[in-house]
Amino acid sequence: MKTSEIVCLGIESTAHTFSVGIATATVAEKTRGKVLANVIKQFTTKTGGIIPAEAAEHHVEVCDVAIKEALAAAAIKIRDVDIISFSQGPGIGHCLRIGAAAARTLAVVHKKPLVGVNHCISHLEIGKLLTAAKDPVLLYASGANTQVIAFEAGKYRIFGETLDQGVGNMLDAFARHIGLGFPGGPQVMKMAKGGKNYIELPYVVKGMDVSFGGILTNITRKYDNGSYSKEDLCYSLQETTFAMLVEVAERALAHTGKTELLLGGGVACNARLQEMCRIMCEERGAKLFVPERQFLVDNGAMIAWLGILEYLKGTRTPVERSAIKPYWRTDEA
Ligand code: AMP
Ligand code: MG
Repeated sequence: MKTSEIVCLGIESTAHTFSVGIATATVAEKTRGKVLANVIKQFTTKTGGIIPAEAAEHHVEVCDVAIKEALAAAAIKIRDVDIISFSQGPGIGHCLRIGAAAARTLAVVHKKPLVGVNHCISHLEIGKLLTAAKDPVLLYASGANTQVIAFEAGKYRIFGETLDQGVGNMLDAFARHIGLGFPGGPQVMKMAKGGKNYIELPYVVKGMDVSFGGILTNITRKYDNGSYSKEDLCYSLQETTFAMLVEVAERALAHTGKTELLLGGGVACNARLQEMCRIMCEERGAKLFVPERQFLVDNGAMIAWLGILEYLKGTRTPVERSAIKPYWRTDEA
């Protein structure tokens, strides 16, 4: 191991994305980090939905190429890598297993330490690396996950979360139902631009938590009844569910006294969600930080970066303890 510079190759494979990122840190009095590569391969379908076994098959197919492309983009060889990290959870078992197997193989063959990291926390840490945010509340809105997370009193805590599905999965399910492809979030966003009338939908915030199942059922029925346009439905779906997210994020800011809101997750790419967060932050004198798209969606760079942070804190994941953790909670990491 070089004394001052550490390089980590990180593998992400919690859901439909297989990604290999490479990050480096200069370890001195103050650790400084940088992303050297972020190769993202997404499994998509025309009709919507992810079949876990098919996504896993996709990951197997692109695995080799993604690793090679990442090393080439970083202009390094595998021997220059000091640590191998991987998303150990939470996520879809079929998909997690492919990334974990690839990471174990690299670690064993090339004799590098292995570090399993928590996917949700990596969204928070990459945001801190790449934006000016120092101690933010993260609104993490992705396909499978929806959580409001912050580091508080010595550990990562969840201040609010979905009680059922992630907001992205809900958008994807509705998009699929009305004949848009997967991923559906961007399609819903486009449709919503043409919406003119707000249609009342259930607004489901329970304490600090949110729930999307009932909203999905309700809007699906409304669509099936045929009396509303797709545009108005998509518009109303965004306005309602994003308002729920902004409400919980704002209360987490108020509760923690923090003054920075960071966005993470694929749904955070949504222009309307960003706008609503910006307005809320302005009104309460907080700052909003939005990493660029490649670091909002699932990506290997965030896994590589958290791999370095964990490694520096002493985390090691020997192969015999590297089993995937599909239900790993943010507040147990
Ligand atoms: P992730 O799980 O973080 O990779 O994010 C994937 C999810 O983000 C999927 O559910 C997508 O439908 C959703 N998504 C991507 N772009 C957008 C967008 N512009 N608006 C809403 N959802 C989006
Ligand atoms: Mg994610």
